[in-house]
Formats: sequence, structure tokens, C-alpha cells
Amino acid sequence: MEQGPEPSTINLQPSAVWKALAAVPDPEIPVVSITDMGMVRDVTVDGGGRVQVTFTPTFSGCPALHVIRESIEQAVRALGVQDVEVRSTLTPPWTTDWINEDARERLRQYGIAPPAPAGEEQLIQLDAEPTRCPRCSSLNVRMTASFGPTLCKRMYVCDSCKEPFEGFKSV
Ligand SMILES: [Zn+2]
Repeated sequence: MEQGPEPSTINLQPSAVWKALAAVPDPEIPVVSITDMGMVRDVTVDGGGRVQVTFTPTFSGCPALHVIRESIEQAVRALGVQDVEVRSTLTPPWTTDWINEDARERLRQYGIAPPAPAGEEQLIQLDAEPTRCPRCSSLNVRMTASFGPTLCKRMYVCDSCKEPFEGFKSV
């Protein structure tokens, strides 16, 4: 963006910013965007074309926080915005319920068991959430580690097809 602010940024609508953010991939799961994951909580554009984006990281223990921050900033700057502020908030904490339906399906196709909706989980709170094998849909799965490569995920193995896979921790 060498050319300086475009006159159009004065009339920038928050919806345009949301659209740009919808193209920012989750740094850990490239098949979904940060908006698919429900991470972007608020977008404001003031009269001077200054943009403020508030996001909630999926898990506070997740790495790549700075990657998300920079990706958001870049996506907004690509709209011709010069003044962008990216804030992170942990209140309210991110919940797997914020993941949109379409993204759940893509997570499954990617080989990550989507989290059970929290409402379902509450009914069986004393038990582990029902996690299905993303390959064969079997419920005959075992958790092999309480978290995977990151704190966001758990590692499972399917006893039906013997495939290991990652699942989300429902929070
Ligand atoms: Zn399986």
C-alpha cells in the first residue's frame, strides 16, 4: 500500500472489513478462517476511516496469537486503511459454539473432529464429549492425550479404523 489512503476508505463500511477478515485463515487450521472460528468479535470504523478489530483467540494457550494479530492487521491494511488497531480480549472467553456450521463440516473433512455443541455436551457432562472418528464416523474412539500439538486439540485413536486423529476440546 504505497499509494496512501484511498478516498474510499473514508466511507469504509464495517461489512467490508468483515469480508476481508473472512479471508484470513486460521493459522493452525488453514481450511477455516478466523471468522469461521468466531474469533472476530467486533469491528468498528470511525469517521476518519480508522479501524479497530477486537478478536478472541480460540484458546489462551494457543500459540500463533501474534500471527493472528498480524494477519488481521494486514487484511485491514490491504483495504487501504492506514490506521488499524487490533485488540484481543478474553472476555467472554471463546467457545466452540462460535464455530459456524459450514466450518464444522470443513473441519471434519480436514480430519479434525468438530466439537460437540455445548448444549449437547451439557446433557452428558459427566462423560467425555461424544467424539466421532472423522474418517469412519465411529464413536469407538479413545483419547490418547489430553492435548495435541497445541493446547487446542486432543489426540484420539479410532478403534474401528485404527486411525489416529485430532479432536477439538469443547470449551
Ligand atoms: Zn475410524
